[in-house]
Amino acid sequence: MELWFTEKANDHVGLTCKVKQTLMRKQSPYQEIMVIETEQFGRMLLLDGVLQTTTSDEFVYHEMISHVPLNTHPNPRRVAVIGGGDGGTIREIIKHDSVEKAVLVEIDEQVIEASRQYLPEIASGLDDERVEILITDGITHIQQSKNTYDVIIVDSTDPVGPAVGLFTQEFYGHVFEALTEDGIMVAQTESPYYEPQLVQRTLGAIGGNFPITRLYLAYIPTYPSGMWSFTLGSKTWEPQEISGDRKQALQTRYYTPAVHAAAFCLPAFVEEIVATV
Ligand code: SAM
Repeated sequence: MELWFTEKANDHVGLTCKVKQTLMRKQSPYQEIMVIETEQFGRMLLLDGVLQTTTSDEFVYHEMISHVPLNTHPNPRRVAVIGGGDGGTIREIIKHDSVEKAVLVEIDEQVIEASRQYLPEIASGLDDERVEILITDGITHIQQSKNTYDVIIVDSTDPVGPAVGLFTQEFYGHVFEALTEDGIMVAQTESPYYEPQLVQRTLGAIGGNFPITRLYLAYIPTYPSGMWSFTLGSKTWEPQEISGDRKQALQTRYYTPAVHAAAFCLPAFVEEIVATV
């Protein structure tokens, strides 16, 4: 018998792929956690049936959510990840020599456990001595942190359940206060093709707090439409004007200094979404 997994982008369209086997399935206090092995994309982490990451294309997402803000900031020393329990963003952050402390703030400890056990190549950075793991709500942690982080990365699930509050103007106001005086934040902000209103809302909410707000894109085969957006809020540094020597040489498979610059060049329909915020 053949087994197929479908993730619906909406009621009319989805991504379907052939499953080799189910490696784990467990209900945590927050969500149902599953890891499946697929023929095309390797292992996949699913939360409440929604695809979070796959071993075949996770590098695109994790490199782009990390290296764009970290290479924009001239000296990122303290970095926080809100969500990100699979560990991929932490793995990329600790590639930066300047980073002294990387704090992972994940609400669901069982996501971290699942990733350590079934996705070790993604979770590999979690044992680095510079990494601190806090099992708590990212909203509370950010509210309680003032002038603490040089970079804050919001690596959250879609805006449902505990992640709803991570997409609000109020939360981004607390992120602003939790950042140092020249700090930078970035959030994953979904597909501009399927979710233009969410992209606009989030851009407006970040722009309501930060003097510099920029949208950038990456191409992630397993995410709806393949075209994924990230929204960056910066107090001082302009991500499109960084000089060559600020872009540290890193071992990457997607991110390069040229990709950093090109990611901010938006197709006309995305520019239109941004212009009408
Ligand atoms: N790359 C993924 C994506 O965009 O599909 C996100 C990956 S990561 C697994 C998302 C994590 O955010 C989940 O493990 C979830 O438990 C966590 N999360 C959701 N809401 C949170 C909150 N309020 N505080 C901390 N972590 C949260």
